[in-house]
Order: sequence, then structure tokens, then C-alpha cells
Amino acid sequence: MSASGTRVVLASNNAKKLGELQRILAPLVPGIEVVGLSDVARYDEPAETEPTFEGNALIKARACLEATGLPSLADDSGLCVDALNGMPGVLSARWSGVPRSEGGDAANNALLLSQLSDVPDERRTARFVCVIAFCTPDGQEVLVEGEMPGRILHAEQGEGGFGYDPLFAAEGHDVSTAELDPGEKDRISHRGHALVAIAPQVAAALS
Ligand code: IMP
Repeated sequence: MSASGTRVVLASNNAKKLGELQRILAPLVPGIEVVGLSDVARYDEPAETEPTFEGNALIKARACLEATGLPSLADDSGLCVDALNGMPGVLSARWSGVPRSEGGDAANNALLLSQLSDVPDERRTARFVCVIAFCTPDGQEVLVEGEMPGRILHAEQGEGGFGYDPLFAAEGHDVSTAELDPGEKDRISHRGHALVAIAPQVAAALS
């Protein structure tokens, strides 16, 4: 086992993201303990200033490693809508300008719906993208990407998931990703694909 044991920090305060990550990595990396930012000493999180998912994921993972000394994972993800030229993309969390703690998810969804109000079904294609960065105390930096293609619905559907899930139907599904059971979302999601890709490297770093 590595000097830091089996503990890995996810550089996020999003409890739902942490839950998804724990659920997906646990069977792939036996013994792993994934903790979030509320479980480690507070540090100043960097602003997500990069124009790419890769750049922002790396900023967050590097800062977390520096502050905690523990192997650090960070995910930067977002929704890329074809009719909006790939936006909101890296701006997904902040699309409406309303902070998450003040109802940002609902405001983002309302704004997206209004922006697509006259866009017909065949042009409502979109994809979720997730880039995960993994930085270790011995200087390794790994980046992986996962995608989930689909389309934007005309109204919110479902109570599960988070963020834009109520407005997004994955390819081959009639329901939104907020209506899928968590295991099914993990199996097809951008984050699920990225985590499956990075799991062997996390397992190797902890062994
Ligand atoms: P991040 O925390 O900077 O990576 O922001 C990601 C944002 O993209 C979230 O706040 C959501 O708005 C959106 N997002 C990313 N992944 C998902 C997902 O699985 N479901 C719904 N929204 C997501």
C-alpha cells in the first residue's frame, strides 16, 4: 500500500458528485476511501479560469494535492449543446450567474430551456463531457475524458441526479438522466466512462 494508504480526495464540495464517484470507484479499486473537501482541512480553492475542461480539472487536482498531500482527483464537467456552439461547456455550473447555493441549477435549466425554445427536436443534440485529473504525491498527473451523447428535452423530467439531468435524455433513452436509477446513469454517464478509464491508474497509485 502507498504511504498515504487508500485515501483519495475528490476536490469537490458537490455531495452528489462525491456520491457518484464513491459508488463507481468502490468496486473498481478495492478498499479505496474517497473523501470530499468537507472531510479535509479547508484551503482556498482555485478559480476555474481555464477555457478547457482539462485545464480546470488539472488546476483543481493540483491545488488539492498541494493542500492535502494526498492523491487528488478533480473532475471538470459540463453540458455541450450543439445549437449553442458547444456552450455552456466549461461555464455549465455558472451559466445563469446564480450560485449553486442560491438555486443555480434551477436557474441554469430555465435559461437553457428559454435559449432553446425555438430549436426543433432534430437540432437539440448535446453531450455531457467529463474530464478527470488525478495527481499523486510522487508527481504523476493523469487526465481522462468521458462523454454521454443525448438531447435536450422540452421540459424538466424527474427528481434524481443534479444539475441539467432533468433536461437531458441520453442517446437510446426516452427518459431524462434524472429519471434513471443511479446504477444505470453510472453505466452510461460521462463521469462513469471517465472513472472506468482512470480506475486502473488510481489502483496502481494506491498499491
Ligand atoms: P463543475 O463542478 O465545474 O465540473 O461543473 C459542472 C456543471 O456541469 C455542474 O454544475 C452541472 O451544471 C453540469 N453537470 C456536470 N455533470 C453533470 C451531470 O452528470 N448531470 C447534470 N449536470 C451535470
